[in-house]
Amino acid sequence: MDLQRVNDAVSKRIQAMNARVDEAKAADLYYYNQPITEMLGGSKVLVRGREMDMFASYSYLGLIGHPRINEAAKKAIDKYGTGTHGVRSLAGSLELHLELEQTIADFKHAEAAITYTSGYVTNLTVVSTLMGRHDYVFSDKLNHASIVDGCLMSGAKFLRFKHNDLDDLQKRLEAAPPEAAKLVIADSVFSMDGDIIDLPRMVDLCRAHNAWLMVDEAHSIGVLGATGRGIEEHFGLGDVIDIKMGTLSKTVPSVGGYVAGRADVIKYLRHGSRAYIFSAALPPAQAAAANEAFKVILDEPERIDKLRKNASQFINGLKDRGFDTLFTETAIVPVLCGKDELAYAITRDVQKKDIFVLPVVSPAVPEGLSRLRATVTAAHESEDIEHAMNVIEEAGKNLGII
Ligand SMILES: *Cc1c(COP(=O)(O)O)cnc(C)c1O
Repeated sequence: MDLQRVNDAVSKRIQAMNARVDEAKAADLYYYNQPITEMLGGSKVLVRGREMDMFASYSYLGLIGHPRINEAAKKAIDKYGTGTHGVRSLAGSLELHLELEQTIADFKHAEAAITYTSGYVTNLTVVSTLMGRHDYVFSDKLNHASIVDGCLMSGAKFLRFKHNDLDDLQKRLEAAPPEAAKLVIADSVFSMDGDIIDLPRMVDLCRAHNAWLMVDEAHSIGVLGATGRGIEEHFGLGDVIDIKMGTLSKTVPSVGGYVAGRADVIKYLRHGSRAYIFSAALPPAQAAAANEAFKVILDEPERIDKLRKNASQFINGLKDRGFDTLFTETAIVPVLCGKDELAYAITRDVQKKDIFVLPVVSPAVPEGLSRLRATVTAAHESEDIEHAMNVIEEAGKNLGII
């Protein structure tokens, strides 16, 4: 083998990517990886000595720094220290982990739950444990990268249906062999567009075709449903999702991922999923913080109302100003710019006015649909949102986006 040639190819790839980054930095168009110095309370953060208003957060209910959650994490450190004894199956399980899993199961009205150390890893390991060669996975075109990677890793036949197009899903289900094992997977709220999956129809299709249903609730926990329980509550459906997946790093201000579902499925994952068997347990402070956060969500429903109010103020205000926000109905608000350069430029202009927001460009989104991907949270006040929209409007006008 020509090792030199392989190395050259890899080096070229590295240089090409790094050159793109350097060019963006030189043109003052690089706003990724900015270090936050301090949380200033509410939606305000300190970034390199400047007070900025955070419009890029997934902490939808504003729970980062909540006194009850901080306290729970500190108590867990005092009781258990900062680490575990390794993987859960051997010495790593704490009572705290079992308590967290019970809390999640109750919150999701499921029989049981299992946790992993990240949402990303949860999707990888759960899809690839449940599905294998000869099986069929049906995945929405705009599903999160971790779902795509899980499907690829499973070795199953990987079929992508058009975004939220249930006719297309139906066609693909009909075309698959009736006897094959099937899993349909979708985000509940899509992470780039903020729109909501048509769950009722998806459930009917899964039942008609004997397929399992897995839904990723990264952006719907605490966001959808009167009590924040997510997409089933939003549509007034009972327990209709087989594999209820979510993350502990967004609305829940910790880190980790979970799946809730039938007890036999969870038992199987606990003994069959490699990310559980071969990777260490969640640290005590993070498990305790997550556990407390689910309780805070239920105890403080006014946060959910405020988030909903803020999201509709933000979406409607941007639309009134002439921006295209696609079909979002949630706290994720795409502000379409068109070409990548415009998305970078509006980011620069808005950041200069102390609004912390970031662009998403191709290939993460289709060419020509580059955007600011703004989020609102329950931590914003109405006047902050109005101010941010005025800043975005001015920049949008200067750049000819509106
Ligand atoms: C963020 C996200 C994940 C990954 O979760 P982490 O806990 O950050 O690893 C998975 N799915 C979706 C839809 C997400 O947005």
